[in-house]
Amino acid sequence: MSALVDYPTFSDSPFFFDRRNLHIAQPESALMQQHSAPSVSYYFPKHVGNYHYGERHPMRPHRLELTNNLVLGYGLHEKMAMYNPRRATEDELCEFHDEDYIDFLKRVTPANAQKLTKDYTLYNIGDDCPVFHDLFSFCQQYAGGTLAAARKLSQGGTDIAINWSGGLHHAKKGEASGFCYVNDIVLGILELLRYHPRVLYIDIDIHHGDGVQEAFYLSNRVLTVSFHKYAADFFPGTGNLSEIGANLGKHFALNVPLHDGIDDESYISLFKAVMEPTITTFRPDAIVLQCGADSLGCDRLGTFNLSIAAHGECVRFIKTFGLPLIALGGGGYRQSSVARCWAYETGVLTGTDLPVALPQNNYLEFFGPDYSLHPPLSGHIQNMNSRQYLERIRMSIREKLRYLNGAPSVQMQEIPPDLQGLLESEERKKEERDEEAHNGMAGEDRSDGPQKRNEFYDTEVGGDGSGAGATAAGLGPRGKKTIRF
Ligand SMILES: [Zn+2]
Repeated sequence: MSALVDYPTFSDSPFFFDRRNLHIAQPESALMQQHSAPSVSYYFPKHVGNYHYGERHPMRPHRLELTNNLVLGYGLHEKMAMYNPRRATEDELCEFHDEDYIDFLKRVTPANAQKLTKDYTLYNIGDDCPVFHDLFSFCQQYAGGTLAAARKLSQGGTDIAINWSGGLHHAKKGEASGFCYVNDIVLGILELLRYHPRVLYIDIDIHHGDGVQEAFYLSNRVLTVSFHKYAADFFPGTGNLSEIGANLGKHFALNVPLHDGIDDESYISLFKAVMEPTITTFRPDAIVLQCGADSLGCDRLGTFNLSIAAHGECVRFIKTFGLPLIALGGGGYRQSSVARCWAYETGVLTGTDLPVALPQNNYLEFFGPDYSLHPPLSGHIQNMNSRQYLERIRMSIREKLRYLNGAPSVQMQEIPPDLQGLLESEERKKEERDEEAHNGMAGEDRSDGPQKRNEFYDTEVGGDGSGAGATAAGLGPRGKKTIRF
């Protein structure tokens, strides 16, 4: 046998940078020690925390402001590159969404809402997904963050990218759903698929990640795994064990349906028991992790019992595989818990131990009476998941994973179009074009100033041009808008 033996599950397409020696998933026990800590990029669209769904609505974008404040208060901006991403353009949003739906989101305002009642039904606008002031800008901002994160990751400009304002996993191709209007996760994964043969999506929000599952239900290049509460009367009502994908995508959707009150120990052991074999079997080239915080105890809508430490342990576990990773937000309806959770997980992702006492910040009054990073959130709801039930789920998932072993190799015949190719005009910033050529930044303003550019950036500027240039130059048809996956 020659030393150049090929690995059958990777594409030989000349369009793709060959990462197979760089990012093969390993079981935790076999992990190599990394030479240095992974580089982390943090995306916070300025003002994304200033939007309001309405007085009585449980979704409060203000939680993003609280989160960012804790992140800065803990000094985590010293540990990562901070970015204020540009807004996603209409064309970018239309890479997944229907044009008429995006056009509606762009046009609708609280003032003209009366005249558009027919569209309300068509696009599922209503109590859950209300029209509010500057709704479209809000969508462009959080989607822009996830797209910038995906671009950065694809270009090898970072190991881990974080966008807590993203993760809106319920939005559908042509309609809003469950407080979500635009599905930034699907858009981000589509961007990743331009460079990565296989992407793993993991969802630990208490609700089923139905929008993402549906988008990639027929694809064997994206494996979706969702851990959620599953009950007839619980939104969105999907996510049973029997939903496994279809056609080419059969066996490439996994669902872990749970009952009320799952506790730290059961959740963590099940999460690891499912994710370890999933990653080693599917061998993704990149991972997108939706960190919805409504799976924490004491959530206003959720009914699990998780502590922030347990939620964060799932994030830590996924990080140990050393694969390119995007961490996104999602649900979370107790603002003080959401902010603590995502600040803690920013610490986990940057490898920083955070003091339990919260730092001074502008919103300290939200965090009383304990002012602690780890308030007691567990034990308020009875755990309805018996040991036998959880074991049955675990066995069932193991059984399903056996089909992945026999899955045909993933061929890269369908090349997703170049999202950036749609922006050849003035909408694209110069930095973004530079980034593609591996000599610049990723189309967003760095908010930490040039003096804090990390060493990775500096070496990137000098880039040797080998391989990287070929990646950009070899890309498929630019500007093509038909997506098939
Ligand atoms: Zn949720």
